[in-house]
Amino acid sequence: MLPIRKLISKLVLPFLLLLLSCTEDDSLDDYPYPEVHPDFRIYVDRFIAEAEKRGYELDYSGLTARYETPIIIDEKIYCGFGYNRNGKFNKPVILIDQVCWQAETNDLARESFFFHELGHSILYRSHREEVFFNGDKQSLMCGDCNQFDIYSSTEDVFKREYYIDELFLGYNNYYPNWAK
Ligand SMILES: [Zn+2]
Repeated sequence: MLPIRKLISKLVLPFLLLLLSCTEDDSLDDYPYPEVHPDFRIYVDRFIAEAEKRGYELDYSGLTARYETPIIIDEKIYCGFGYNRNGKFNKPVILIDQVCWQAETNDLARESFFFHELGHSILYRSHREEVFFNGDKQSLMCGDCNQFDIYSSTEDVFKREYYIDELFLGYNNYYPNWAK
C-alpha cells in the first residue's frame, strides 16, 4: 500500500501540473514569431512553406506584423507597409490597416497582399512595375496595383505559382505561357 502522502503526491501533483500547464498555455504565446498578430500567422506560415519549397531558409527573427490604422507615412496613406531590417525598426515589421484588411475577406487576396509586404520586409524587394503584353503585372511586388487582386479571382488562381516563384526569384524577362 502507498503511504497517504505518496498517494497524494502521485495523484495531486500531476493534476496540479496539468492545471499549471493549462493556465500557462493560455497566457504563453508559443508561436515562433509572437509579435505577428494571430490574424496574419496563417500567411506567415504559408510564406515560410513556399520559401522552403524553393530551397530558401530565410531569417524571420524579430518578424512583427500588427495593425496600424491608419498608416500614414510621409503624408501618404497606405493599406499596408513593410519595413526590412535596414528600416526604421531595425527588424522586419509589417503594418496593416485593419479597415483595408477586413474589407477584403478573400483568402488568396489577403495572401498576395501580405506576401507583397513580406517581399519588402523579408526578401528586401522593392517595387517592380513591368507589365506583360496581356496587361497583367509581372510581379506581385507591383506598387501601382491592387495587391489584393493579383491571383485571387477564380479565373486568375492558376497564376499563383508563377507570382510566388517570381516573388522569391525576382524574374527578369521570364514570360509564363499564359502571358505570351
Ligand atoms: Zn509595396
